[in-house]
Amino acid sequence: MKIAGLVKTSLIDYPDLVSAIVFTQGCNFACGFCHNPELIPIKGEVSTSEEEILSFLTKRVTRLDGVVITGGEPTLQPDLVNFIQKVKKIGYKVKLDTNGSNPEMLKSLLDENLLDYVAMDIKGPLEKYRQISGYASTKIIQTSIKIILESGIGHEFRTTFVPKLHCLEDAEGIGEMVSGAALFTVQNFRPGHTLKKEFENEGSFSLPELERIKDRIKPFVQAVRVLENLS
Ligand code: SF4
Repeated sequence: MKIAGLVKTSLIDYPDLVSAIVFTQGCNFACGFCHNPELIPIKGEVSTSEEEILSFLTKRVTRLDGVVITGGEPTLQPDLVNFIQKVKKIGYKVKLDTNGSNPEMLKSLLDENLLDYVAMDIKGPLEKYRQISGYASTKIIQTSIKIILESGIGHEFRTTFVPKLHCLEDAEGIGEMVSGAALFTVQNFRPGHTLKKEFENEGSFSLPELERIKDRIKPFVQAVRVLENLS
């Protein structure tokens, strides 16, 4: 596993659980608004060994409930199955964050009961995927959505809404893509440290605008929430 970082305790990244967050190195998307651009290069810096992470998790098992595996894109790690097996063996619940580009890996993890929760990014309506993320294989995205919807485990889909990229109508297209989902998260774009310079000073949506986006998605899913200050 190429591990680029660890957040030792989080109260917000795994619904209802106190968790640690493991950041994997490398992503196959190139979202201009990405606020972790240093995690994109596949050959980027690895800061922590798998052994160190497992040793930390073993020591903290009485104080933490879950482990969030995020990136970058965790499913690019060929030994992800093996790593999660070890994390589960210690006694943790595992949440995977993914961009949905590896449905085979997702299926393997679910078939082996290695995941307790999945959060998948939806970059925009299918016709805007290439423009927003540089990734064009929308059939693969649809396959991952279907796998998650049929998984029977806790899940959410989420979109970072960026005024430069998304309009209100996109919210309906996105809602339709994930129809029936347990939870949808509307995340606001946060300017600052981004992959593409042009996003550094871009504006965000206002709270009333985010509420309107939420209202458009609501008919398609079981619950929607707005996270105003995250990206
Ligand atoms: S925001 Fe896009 S580029 Fe950044 S880690 Fe997520 S999927 Fe990859």
